[in-house]
Amino acid sequence: LHEIARELGRIVHAARVHETEQRLVTELRELDRYRADLIATISHELKTPLTSIIGHVELLDELDTGVPSVRAIERSAHRLHKLVDRLLSYSRLHGEIREVRRRFDLVELCRSTVEHSGFQAATSGLSLDLEVLDEPLPVTGDPHEVSLIVDNLVGNALKYTPRGGSVRVRVGSAGAEARVEVVDTGLGISRIDQPHVFSPFHRSTNLDALSIPGSGLGLAICRRIAEQHGGQVSVESELGRGSTFTLTLPLDTSD
Ligand code: ADP
Repeated sequence: LHEIARELGRIVHAARVHETEQRLVTELRELDRYRADLIATISHELKTPLTSIIGHVELLDELDTGVPSVRAIERSAHRLHKLVDRLLSYSRLHGEIREVRRRFDLVELCRSTVEHSGFQAATSGLSLDLEVLDEPLPVTGDPHEVSLIVDNLVGNALKYTPRGGSVRVRVGSAGAEARVEVVDTGLGISRIDQPHVFSPFHRSTNLDALSIPGSGLGLAICRRIAEQHGGQVSVESELGRGSTFTLTLPLDTSD
């Protein structure tokens, strides 16, 4: 009897632990949703006055008042606007069910990103080119969101590579996967920072990289979109030598 009572006690205890765990999971989920809603609401509310500030400051700039701070205000307002946009994309991506799904060619998408980034590369004194290993590479999903990933990776490569360097976008396939590699000869990321660069708001501890403006949200957004498409984003990098960011997405083999 004593044994049975002890066993029963153990079962009751395990059931209680399970119940507490379940409750904690539910609470954590609710908190996560609350956090995403809060970010979305604040960002949305910030957007309206910011748009108005940008409009007015651009007007002042056109009037050519000669006041030097007008340019500084304009630059900061644009930066804030970009941050708010990123925060909105980040919160929007939380647990959202994909609405747009269609088949598209990943090579075409990369070609278009490389074309429209050409000007930024040229003004930054960098070479930017595309290497196509296999074509076409059909994938399924939201082409706008996938282009956000490639834009972000190319944008970062251009941002974190000093003048005279190069950025190469290599597109191909490996087995059942389409692969996009963005290879740069830039600042690189230390081994300590590498595991964290995909976490929201994380910026490398490297001082050269820190002196370049950013929000630490771009790669978190990339990873989330890739995962929602059944793919991944990863990094290989060496400090002072450069980085390779790789996006993989499942190839759509249906005809
Ligand atoms: P942001 O660039 O806005 O700070 P990201 O999430 O895009 O945010 O990147 C996170 C951090 O990873 C950056 O702050 C930077 O330190 C580092 N990083 C990203 N891409 C590169 C790259 N191509 N070369 C060197 N560092 C990079």
